[in-house]
Amino acid sequence: MNDDTFQVFDAHVHVGRWKTLDFAGRTSHLEDVADVLTGAGCTGALVMPTDEADNQGLLDAVKAWKKRPCFLFAAWINPEVTGLEGFLSDHLADIRALKFHPSFQRRPITDITYRPFLDLAGREGLPAVVHCGRWREIAGYELALEAAAAHPDVPFILSHMGGDSPGLVTGAATAIRDGRMDNVYLGTESIREYWLVRRALEIVGPEKLVFGSDHNLNHPASFLAVVDALDLSDTDRKLVVGGNARRILASHD
Ligand SMILES: [Zn+2]
Repeated sequence: MNDDTFQVFDAHVHVGRWKTLDFAGRTSHLEDVADVLTGAGCTGALVMPTDEADNQGLLDAVKAWKKRPCFLFAAWINPEVTGLEGFLSDHLADIRALKFHPSFQRRPITDITYRPFLDLAGREGLPAVVHCGRWREIAGYELALEAAAAHPDVPFILSHMGGDSPGLVTGAATAIRDGRMDNVYLGTESIREYWLVRRALEIVGPEKLVFGSDHNLNHPASFLAVVDALDLSDTDRKLVVGGNARRILASHD
């Protein structure tokens, strides 16, 4: 890891090809992702596979990558993949987070099949990046908070700030504050409404927001622009664009 890895750190970047027809075959490789991130001013990123779940392919690419930006690898957790537990234990030293996507896997994060992976995250000090969305019974932020309460030793980053809509974002932020959920953070990826990010920040504080873009679907510059539109103090901006990610992701270095 370079000294400047977390200066501007994109904590939500996909690399590879999307299977879901919704994303029209969108594909990226580490090399083009690096160009986009560098062009946007990012110095580091947490990279994860797509719904193809090609953990081995992406990990190999990350390990071979010697240039900038600095890439940290997150493994995609599909409990139905045979050999996943073996992959995780074989590569623990190179895995920096676990990515959960309840909607693609069609099971809530509280499902029993996810439990061994959350237990592993607790033992190894790995953060859990959990997709949250509008499909409430599968991907609602309430379920992610329930899992976070059951695994207080795992830092949970709720993607899309708890779900990509104003009611969900403010609901998630309020629940985190009122529940004093020390281990829960909100990832800013795909939230376009700067006023909504500001409102959430006023509820939970700047140490709870983690900048992310959801590249290769979105462009990181779009979501850095949202953070910049908040007109934060220098200290708070540093926390949101990298300081919080450093605290969460670098804790076991
Ligand atoms: Zn994503």
